Amino acid sequence: MGTASDIADITWDVIVIGGGHAGCEAAAAAARTGAATLLLTHRADTIGEMSCNPAIGGVGKGHLVREIDALDGLMGRVADAAGIQFRLLNRSKGPAVRGPRAQSDRALYKAAMQRALAEQANLAIHEAGAEDLILEDRGGAAPGVAGVVTDRGVRLRAGRVILTTGTFLRGLIHLGEKNWPAGRAGEAPAVGLAATLDRLGFRLGRLKTGTPPRLDRHSIDYAALEAQPGDEPPVPFSWMTARIATPQLPCHITETTPEAHAIIRANLARSPMYSGRIESTGPRYCPSIEDKVVRFADRDRHQIFLEPEGLESDLVYPNGISTSLPEDVQRAMIAVLPGLAKARIVRPGYAIEYDFVDPRELHPSLEARRVVGLYLAGQINGTTGYEEAAGQGLLAGLNAARDAAGQAPVILGRADAYIGVMIDDLVTRGAIEPYRMFTSRAEYRLTLRADNADQRLTEIGIGAGVVGAERAAMFRARMAELDNARAMMAERSLTPPEAQRHGLSVNADGQRRSAMDLLRYPSIAFADLARIWPELAEVAPGIVEQLEIDAVYAGYLDRQQADIRAFRKDEAVALPADLDYGAIAGLSNEMKEKLSAARPSTIGQAGRIPGVTPAALSLVLAQLRKGARAAAG
Ligand code: FAD
Repeated sequence: MGTASDIADITWDVIVIGGGHAGCEAAAAAARTGAATLLLTHRADTIGEMSCNPAIGGVGKGHLVREIDALDGLMGRVADAAGIQFRLLNRSKGPAVRGPRAQSDRALYKAAMQRALAEQANLAIHEAGAEDLILEDRGGAAPGVAGVVTDRGVRLRAGRVILTTGTFLRGLIHLGEKNWPAGRAGEAPAVGLAATLDRLGFRLGRLKTGTPPRLDRHSIDYAALEAQPGDEPPVPFSWMTARIATPQLPCHITETTPEAHAIIRANLARSPMYSGRIESTGPRYCPSIEDKVVRFADRDRHQIFLEPEGLESDLVYPNGISTSLPEDVQRAMIAVLPGLAKARIVRPGYAIEYDFVDPRELHPSLEARRVVGLYLAGQINGTTGYEEAAGQGLLAGLNAARDAAGQAPVILGRADAYIGVMIDDLVTRGAIEPYRMFTSRAEYRLTLRADNADQRLTEIGIGAGVVGAERAAMFRARMAELDNARAMMAERSLTPPEAQRHGLSVNADGQRRSAMDLLRYPSIAFADLARIWPELAEVAPGIVEQLEIDAVYAGYLDRQQADIRAFRKDEAVALPADLDYGAIAGLSNEMKEKLSAARPSTIGQAGRIPGVTPAALSLVLAQLRKGARAAAG
């Protein structure tokens, strides 16, 4: 860890502010890409802290973790090192919507993250709060960032700064009738930086989120509850993890009761949300228990997962009852739940309100439009969740480092990655409520699967310089194995009579079918083919799974590729940053305003701005052609 005077002597390529999920990935990605990077955070011992639930992944979120891993990010490997229960969600549905998820040991997670950062070359860590930004005139309309002033008055210099301050910007905690300024429980909020962003003219909004009370493990009557074991064997997130070595624990399931709902209803006036003290919007898909009781008034039960916080921890996280009701009401409500009659609340739940920056203030590279060299990633951009934060952090770190090296940013599109879908949603549509990833947000779900994230992204990451040598070698070896297996499957074939002689039932149409074609039949398994061609038995299980998924999706993927080609054509039509929408004849004032405010970078992005019509896009395209003709001659 650097002392203030050491680090003040250096001009850093990149300074990352914040040691949360976005900050850790940003710092590691920038350093991996070769930039001299400084991670500046309030407290080094909270680096990698899971502020809320001790779990990583899930449907949509698990896809993000796989993509982060494919780009050599940390989250997958760290979650593997800390995982105490692994489950593949949606196992009964198609591979496109299966989501890997793992319960984490909170302490192991933090320790593994801190270790990974300590081992990272080109990266220094300094413990201090960032109070203000140093700006400079770079000759353009927007000022450029030149560094950071810490809360101890130390001036640190850098050409690029990444803000990842999470819920800390003017954070305000609510617990029943009480509230107090804090970034999260027990930590001070960031007030100076919020004032800086205000002063620079950033559009700020207010959002809220909440967390449930923590229970003492020894006070829960597990005998009365249903246990939920993890998958056996546990499947890791990372392609770099050979096997999960941590002992595995079960979760338990309980539920709310009509009696608990009655207690909540009787005390709604004491909930800051319902008494009007919190007016900001919370996560729709992760509502507080008081919200659930009001919004789903016809339901008399809601499931609660009792998740252990760690192997050595006495704390249990009751997932599903985040609340800001007063502590006495939390106690009364818990005491009437099955298995929790004697449960002791170690820490009450609470809600937190915080400032976020309208992400339409950002370019798709995550660089701010208002300040050159300033990047924003994570909850500060209106998202919720560790995985969403980490995905943005990785891209912001990579792009800041590339900028330092004079290289163009890497933009992942909606057809490349869930990370691309998320960033495009944020910078094009903004966030009116905490943004969380779902598979339904992606148009090309069959292509953007968790299982093929490496095939989609690792080569891009190698080209961009963010993937290390070890990962690159492992990826190349896996791809060679996969290509070899695909070739074996293409080269081996049977006529219908031959297939029938082997007991495989196929149409008697005289068509010779390759092993891959045969695998598309639901009645034919890979093991059936390996009986016919014994050399196929040598193919590794991970590669077999990939072939099976290829076979299931073959026809659909061809169709999706045609859609993706059309989509990419629109994405390839760049709109000049200085295009004067006000001067385009025929555009309505509403369209002019929308396009001028959003400044889309491609015609595809323009089409995704809410309310922008196809007719308006035609006029913009006509203007571009006119401009091109005028320039040509
Ligand atoms: P954080 O993890 O918040 O990290 C911010 C980092 O910045 C911290 O290290 C902090 O010390 C540092 N920092 C802040 N200001 C400064 C400064 N001025 N100088 C230096 N360092 C600074 N997500 C869900 O998906 N579901 C939930 O139910 C949920 N509930 C939550 C409940 C609570 C109470 C909280 C606090 C968060 C909850 N979240 C939830 C959100 C989840 O924790 C975040 O989305 C995720 O941690 C965001 O990561 P981040 O890196 O953007 O920010």
